Amino acid sequence: MTARKLAAGNWKMNGDRAALAEVDALLHGLSEGCDVLICPPAVLIAAMADRVQGRIAVGGQDCHAKPSGAHTGDIAAAQLRDAGASHVILGHSERRADHRETDADVAAKAIAAHDAGLVTVICVGETDAQRDAGETLNVIATQLAGSVPDCATANNTVVAYEPVWAIGTGRTPTNDQIAEVHAMMRRTLADRFDDGADVSLLYGGSVKPGNATEIFAIADVDGALVGGASLKAADFGPIVAAL
Ligand code: PEP
Repeated sequence: MTARKLAAGNWKMNGDRAALAEVDALLHGLSEGCDVLICPPAVLIAAMADRVQGRIAVGGQDCHAKPSGAHTGDIAAAQLRDAGASHVILGHSERRADHRETDADVAAKAIAAHDAGLVTVICVGETDAQRDAGETLNVIATQLAGSVPDCATANNTVVAYEPVWAIGTGRTPTNDQIAEVHAMMRRTLADRFDDGADVSLLYGGSVKPGNATEIFAIADVDGALVGGASLKAADFGPIVAAL
């Protein structure tokens, strides 16, 4: 096995039922054999899953670490699965910042997600200050060690490298900087897990139609996690086609 290619979209807190028309447009131009995932707001998961009928994967943007119970406003992994999700993004930097999620929280959620049969897309990434201080590789290694649980396999886990300073800013690391982090992640996962070398490694942060081809050509980049440019088929379609 080798790492699977994946183009993943994160709609964040954007979109409504009318926005599902974008998915129709995306499906229209989709070629066979390419793995595509869209993670809409939770309220749209069931409608999107019904609409796409398995032609692309649908995912959540977070889940709770507990299987059920008194957790107002939260969503259990099994509920995501029941709604039609096959994946869930965990540890996105916006969740780490807005909800103070730690690596241990992310790992606990990942275990719950795997128990429910979901594939996790676990996000890691350094801040601007950490990169400037030369701490990038250490930060990513620490996040990987703490956020990726021991039950991870190449079949149930995808890792997304998303520098915090590149998200939604139009700034991207150099190709060498992306390659350096991805090579380290590949080595680290290969050392820790039997099939760790086959875990798909996505780059995320200001991926656009204009830079996707170049980013996908970087060694150890198996695809992208895309925020803003995943909202419109006119942008996401060309990114998917570049994979
Ligand atoms: C993201 O939030 O996961 C992301 C990569 O956002 P953007 O593509 O908008 O930078």
